[in-house]
Amino acid sequence: MFVVTGPSGAGKGTLINGLLDLVPALEVAVSATTRSQRRGEVDGREYWFLTDEEFSRRAEADEFLEHVPYVSGQRYGTLRSEMERISAEGRVCVLELELEGALAVQRDVEGSVTIFIAADVPELERRLRERATESTGEIGERIALARSQLEQAHRFRYMVRNDDVDRATAAVAAIVECELALAGTMSRP
Ligand code: 5GP
Repeated sequence: MFVVTGPSGAGKGTLINGLLDLVPALEVAVSATTRSQRRGEVDGREYWFLTDEEFSRRAEADEFLEHVPYVSGQRYGTLRSEMERISAEGRVCVLELELEGALAVQRDVEGSVTIFIAADVPELERRLRERATESTGEIGERIALARSQLEQAHRFRYMVRNDDVDRATAAVAAIVECELALAGTMSRP
């Protein structure tokens, strides 16, 4: 299992899309969230959009590998059912998580590989403002969080700087290929 993490606005989503083209064995697990759906997002594609009550019910039923409260108290969680579906298909799971969730998976899931995506603060601010789907207050909150999150890079296995999207995507793909090859070697008798 691969976990891509890093601050909001670092370009994790774009990198993952490029990565999926380069390494076809991978599939992204669709998370659940209580945040509202953005324009263009489809339920079951970007996220499963749940009410707070439904999210709580699933958390109590232990349906999440990990779940966290994020900005403005919105909740995000990795569904065990998604991971089971992907491994039943014989594919390798990729998760896109904020830092606390990524640390939880790194601690709890043996063999998980974490990759931190970093970007310069001005670049992060530009991307977050460009996205501009959140209210101004919430963008400020996300920028402040992104600054503090950049200092956490050392807690993860790998770090890739996303200053050039093609170069960064190739770097992440190289990490994934190496780790998959290594895992294959180790599982052989
Ligand atoms: P956004 O609201 O911009 O889609 O996502 C906000 C943050 O939540 C991003 O950093 C994203 O990686 C993270 N995230 C998405 N799904 C999950 C999840 O299932 N668990 C955790 N811990 N974080 C998630």
